[in-house]
Amino acid sequence: MGVAILDKMETEERTSQIMTSASLLAVFAHPDDETFRCGGTLALLAQRGVRVQVLTATHGQAGSRGDPPLCAPEELPAVRENELRCACAALGIQPPFLLDYQDGQLSKADPERIVSEILAVVREVRPQMILTYGSDGVSGHPDHIAIGCFATEAFRRTLDVVALHAIAVPHSLAKTLGMTQIHSVPDHSISLTVDVSTVWNAKMSAIHCHQTQLGESPILQASPEKQHLFLGTEHFQTVLFRPDLLVKSKQSNSQTLMSL
Ligand SMILES: [Zn+2]
Repeated sequence: MGVAILDKMETEERTSQIMTSASLLAVFAHPDDETFRCGGTLALLAQRGVRVQVLTATHGQAGSRGDPPLCAPEELPAVRENELRCACAALGIQPPFLLDYQDGQLSKADPERIVSEILAVVREVRPQMILTYGSDGVSGHPDHIAIGCFATEAFRRTLDVVALHAIAVPHSLAKTLGMTQIHSVPDHSISLTVDVSTVWNAKMSAIHCHQTQLGESPILQASPEKQHLFLGTEHFQTVLFRPDLLVKSKQSNSQTLMSL
């Protein structure tokens, strides 16, 4: 079954070339950021043999413990780390790297320190793509906005990473679902839309790994139609792009999402 890609910027060739990359590093703030808006795409890339690596800056210790609580407050960092590991396994991607920044305080992190820590992982993973949050943070969470800034700065300091992508939600989808709390973007600014229906079960398994957070996700109480609308398709913006690197690497299209 094919995977539909709707390229809104007439950059189908470009994005398919980007997706030929053999390695992707996703840089996020909290356990669960890797799953809800991009987990299906990560699973599809992993199915294609791409090394997909998640770097999470905090243990999500300021998040919910569940209702009723599933653990003591002091246990939450370890519980959420395990939930993240469970989700990565469910998506079929690499075990995650975790940093130990304070959840809710990421914007106060020393920029030089965290950027250098991201770059250390970049040197190890050698990604062709970095995925993170854009300037809106999707939910607007300050940690999301901060990690997006740090990952962008890390990208700027590399020479051989081809593209920086950001998770995004198009205006039309947010409007259809009445999600006024989401920071959505103009539809025409979306550069890649991925139908993740073929990996729906893996994505839902990953979501349910995040047991402490399930009550924080109103979409899981929505109708199956709304869940498929919001979770069955994932959207991305290309923030920065180095086309000259694609020419040098002479990458083929044999491993693009288009070929699935
Ligand atoms: Zn988050």
